[in-house]
Amino acid sequence: MNIILMGAQGSGKGTQARVLGPELNLVKVATGDLFRAAIAAGNELGQKVEAILARGDLVPDELTNAIVRERLAEIARAKAAGEVEGALFDGFPRTAAQAEALDQILADHDDRVTVVIELQVDPEKLVDRLSKRRVCANCGAVYNLEADPPAVAGVCDRCGGALVQRDDDKPEPIRRRLALYAEQTAPLLTYYGQRGLVEQVDGDRPIADVTAAIEVIVEKRTQTKVTR
Ligand SMILES: [Zn+2]
Repeated sequence: MNIILMGAQGSGKGTQARVLGPELNLVKVATGDLFRAAIAAGNELGQKVEAILARGDLVPDELTNAIVRERLAEIARAKAAGEVEGALFDGFPRTAAQAEALDQILADHDDRVTVVIELQVDPEKLVDRLSKRRVCANCGAVYNLEADPPAVAGVCDRCGGALVQRDDDKPEPIRRRLALYAEQTAPLLTYYGQRGLVEQVDGDRPIADVTAAIEVIVEKRTQTKVTR
């Protein structure tokens, strides 16, 4: 089973991936995590990724695909050993070219995409939500002034460090990313839609409701009962 979660930044797909991964015994494949690991490793690949993200741009397909291919080889080994059911994609693929690459990578392991879940949330709600993000300058803890505020305004609960708004979290860069996202994912939804793989879910609801809606879709698609 290979599930692709789609949705703009702030749509809650990361949260859903954290819940659904363990529940369905799927390994989360989030390019954000893979990029951070590459950056932390400090190798040439990581330095490239870091510079691209600092500009607010998207990492090019060939770099992303190479990183994902490596990860999927590991997951295929775990699947063959009966340790996991498959992969849960969060933030990948982002373009039709990446989707084609993913199909090829999965086919190399005699595997395929099971379903594509699109979480839908109004973009201006996302701008509002994301621009309330604050990050601790000292320990990196993340807060949201509305959903998850610190006990004392401007001060990190964990370490007492100062909370700052990253440039990335200001409305203009957010709008720019959302516009890029919409522009790039439209062909992707067409690509999967033509094969009847896309299911839309209203993401502007409580987390548990969104999870339940996705579970129903997975049960329908795989003809298996999800153990909650
Ligand atoms: Zn802190």
